[in-house]
Amino acid sequence: MKTIFEPFKIKMVEPIPILTAAERQAAIKTANFNLFTLPADTVTFDFLTDSGTSAMSSAQWAAMLLGDESYAGSTSYQRFQRTIQNLTGLEHVIPTHQGRSAEALLCQALLKPGQRVLGNTQFDTTRANIESAGGISIDLPDPANKNTQAEDPFKGNVDLHALKQELEDRSSEVAFFVMTVTNNSVGGQPVSMENLRTTRQILADYRIPLFIDCARFAENAYFIKTRELGYAAKSIPSIVSEMFSYADGALMSAKKDAFANIGGFLALKDARLAEDVRRRMVITEGFPTYGGLAGRDLEAIATGLDEIQDESYLSYRIKSVDYFGRGLEEAGLKVVKPLGGHAVYIDAKASVPHLAAAQFPAQALAVALYETIGLRGVEVGSLMFGHKDEVSGEEIPAPQELVRLAFPRRVYTQSHIDAIIEGAHEMARTLDQLPGYRIVEQAKFLRHFTAKLDRQDCEVQS
Ligand SMILES: *Cc1c(COP(=O)(O)O)cnc(C)c1O
Repeated sequence: MKTIFEPFKIKMVEPIPILTAAERQAAIKTANFNLFTLPADTVTFDFLTDSGTSAMSSAQWAAMLLGDESYAGSTSYQRFQRTIQNLTGLEHVIPTHQGRSAEALLCQALLKPGQRVLGNTQFDTTRANIESAGGISIDLPDPANKNTQAEDPFKGNVDLHALKQELEDRSSEVAFFVMTVTNNSVGGQPVSMENLRTTRQILADYRIPLFIDCARFAENAYFIKTRELGYAAKSIPSIVSEMFSYADGALMSAKKDAFANIGGFLALKDARLAEDVRRRMVITEGFPTYGGLAGRDLEAIATGLDEIQDESYLSYRIKSVDYFGRGLEEAGLKVVKPLGGHAVYIDAKASVPHLAAAQFPAQALAVALYETIGLRGVEVGSLMFGHKDEVSGEEIPAPQELVRLAFPRRVYTQSHIDAIIEGAHEMARTLDQLPGYRIVEQAKFLRHFTAKLDRQDCEVQS
């Protein structure tokens, strides 16, 4: 069937803001051309992130009403614990208020200053937690992801040769390994079961523990089922079980593949490590059976973790991202391949080649998508990852100029996507005239969140 239909019906609705083009132009100017500064009630289609933006099901809302708010040992915790034990096969389950607090607890417990943490590419908060504990984060991504147009099925893999080399050279300095599934920092590309299994075998020789950052474990399992030889007939839960069978622990932001608006967890095999984490967490997170969450949040997460493994949902999810990407491509934009995962990434270098890196081409495209369609994405390019050289004062650009359009789960329908694609066709007609931007004001760290920008054509006019 060509039509992708949502495998759910809607019983509660939320109106979306619809503005005129003039209103959007005024709003983005007031926001200093920074999409993070834009108030949500000026955004028609919000694809800024898929984090904490899911629509919960009626089953999740119903479970929330059963939330047991007992301080210690609540029945909601017991259900949360059982669900995650069944999911991961890991015995010790520690709730946390977000993914990054699970990272912080793990790094504090397991990392000594100067030690190294390896991975297929750490997510920003994971890297920040490693570094803030005095560790060194080493990313070993598969070189396949450098070519944005290659249709490689598992571009999220770790580079096994680089991993072996790193361990031969300095294995005694390595504290642990994190496999992020899907690999968010390289475009949400998946990791194959074979890569995970081989990584496990390599690490076992050195007795280095393997943790899975499983924010999008179900999406990764679906890619294994549909792209990896030998998995087509296996069920999603059995693929998920095999993935976790290679891990000594798992960290999760439940704001992704648990359909929850807040929450996370750390699940561990080792009882002593779990005990250490539980002792630490009371200082910042709360008692170990609630971890900074309400009992009702634990219920929403437990229910969401079961729901996300539904194959008809996963098929709809991945197919609709694919449909969106193809539509943008037909409109004349270049997108990162293969499509799928939690977002579509537009390659701005290829889409607006008349703009130099110093003119922030991906930001130019992101602003234009807002102005013409009311669509909010995020720049993942020189505004986010470029920086000023300390000595020369020169701007060092990022390796890639991308606009990420992340899909909230179960929020937008296919007709929303069709409307965006229609708008993209219109925008594409003026692509070669998009103005560049310059930074007027910026913070020293994470400048993209607060930077003020100005449009280069405005300057000419004024
Ligand atoms: C979102 C995310 C995190 C951090 O989780 P928060 O809940 O935002 O703290 C960590 N790893 C990955 C892969 C993520 O996508």
